[in-house]
Amino acid sequence: MAVTREKFDNIIEIQNVTKVFDGITAVDNVNLAVRRGEFVTLLGPSGCGKTTLLRMIAGFEMPTSGSIFLEKQDVTSVPPHMRPINTVFQKYALFPHLSVFKNIAFGLKLKKIPTGEADKKGRPIYRKFTKDEIAEKVERVLKLVNLEAYGHRDITGLSGGQQQRIAIARAIVCEPKVLLLDEPLGALDLKMRKEMQSELMAMHKNIGITFIYVTHDQEEALTMSDKVVVMTDGAVQQYGPPKKIYDEPANAFVADFIGESNILSGVMKKDFLVEFCGTEFKCLDKGFGKDEKVDLVVRPEDIVVSLKKSAKKDALAGEVLSTVFKGTYYEMEIMASGYQFTVQNTVEYTPGSKVYLSVEPNGIHIMKKLKTVNEFDGEILSETTVGFCDGEFEFENDGSFERGDEVRVKIPFDKIELTDDEEDGVIGANVTQTLYKGSYYQVQVYTDDDNDFFIDTVDEWDIGDRVGINIKPSDIAVSKKIEKPEEADTAENADEQAADGEVRNEE
Ligand code: ATP
Repeated sequence: MAVTREKFDNIIEIQNVTKVFDGITAVDNVNLAVRRGEFVTLLGPSGCGKTTLLRMIAGFEMPTSGSIFLEKQDVTSVPPHMRPINTVFQKYALFPHLSVFKNIAFGLKLKKIPTGEADKKGRPIYRKFTKDEIAEKVERVLKLVNLEAYGHRDITGLSGGQQQRIAIARAIVCEPKVLLLDEPLGALDLKMRKEMQSELMAMHKNIGITFIYVTHDQEEALTMSDKVVVMTDGAVQQYGPPKKIYDEPANAFVADFIGESNILSGVMKKDFLVEFCGTEFKCLDKGFGKDEKVDLVVRPEDIVVSLKKSAKKDALAGEVLSTVFKGTYYEMEIMASGYQFTVQNTVEYTPGSKVYLSVEPNGIHIMKKLKTVNEFDGEILSETTVGFCDGEFEFENDGSFERGDEVRVKIPFDKIELTDDEEDGVIGANVTQTLYKGSYYQVQVYTDDDNDFFIDTVDEWDIGDRVGINIKPSDIAVSKKIEKPEEADTAENADEQAADGEVRNEE
């Protein structure tokens, strides 16, 4: 008989999951499929929704909408203790009055397992583990976490790293199918953290269960994981193997968050040719529209510095601003064509040196812009004002619009003014991201009615700053609204996304 196999052995599938707390969207329409046995890390800045997503997988939180499947069963409303999942938290929460052995054995003593027999009514009969079975299981996990001889010890006398290993032993002793780890190394010092990273990777290999790990440390994520989920603002920006995320970031946010990078705006002149810094460069990317505006990333180690201009037309003349020795290379800030590049090189060029910068085609990675213009739904409020994002803005009405008309509003990134004092703006917002693009900052702000504005500015703003937003009437383009049909996301989509290792929740 032919054996039919599942297309992908996904142990967890998250479909269109959203979680809203008191009007705040912590997780925003996430789709994700995790294969059995993988080490998957949720990575992103503080507040991006990693823990909330993990808690929904564990069952501690219910999604506001969407579904979670475990081994193809819908577990969205199954309570935590009924899921074959265990969680390790940053705070170990061990019982200080119990020995290491008793801490680990605690869950096993409560657990009931089917005997394989049934009572007169046909209901399965359960039993508890015997003392010998418990001892055997505890010894086995103690060995796995490298604490074989520690069973009799008091918890209080152990180091932070040892306590965390006990917490992991306690979580795996009941043999869950999935282990969730919420910043488990966050409380450890750097040396212990590095040691525990290698130990966790070895443990994952030995026990073969699926690990879902939460961290905001990109180096930790790239080192340990089979796949990384990069999140921001509750949404998945990219999902894939660490090398792919580093080499081919899906957008400027991912490029900025993962590793050092020079992020610039450019224009695709045609396939394999991009223009930035007023110069055309060969690249390996195709499939963009002619003259499409793009973001591009050039990693500091991919920039070649030389004192002489080579025969290549595309070398940029520049001057070294600063240099810092970083142990195995020099990190230099170099100004070229009005852009400030970060460059890493084993050869030092001292400040003031006149140099030429070049980059091979495989050192340039082109990314689609997340947005090219700010665009919102609005309503005409009076002859001269349009309402959007909970604000009433003046605009230039050529007579085409009447009060009550539903409209689309567009504002270019460089036509928005941010004010220090929120009261000086038409509406207020919080700065959520800022990205240096060589000669200006691209700032993202989040309005009180849940909208994002992108602003190109030469001023530096800090994440968390409260700002006001002003726009000149002539910079607000208003047009009649055209409804777009919505696209449905399906379970098959989640499968396909897992297959190519990538999920993008782009606007
Ligand atoms: P961190 O790394 O700081 O733990 P995170 O990426 O894990 O951050 P979450 O803890 O998931 O982020 O929080 C996402 C957003 O949801 C935040 O704005 C947070 O304040 C909010 N949030 C989380 N839990 C709750 C809750 N129980 N009630 C209200 N808001 C919450």
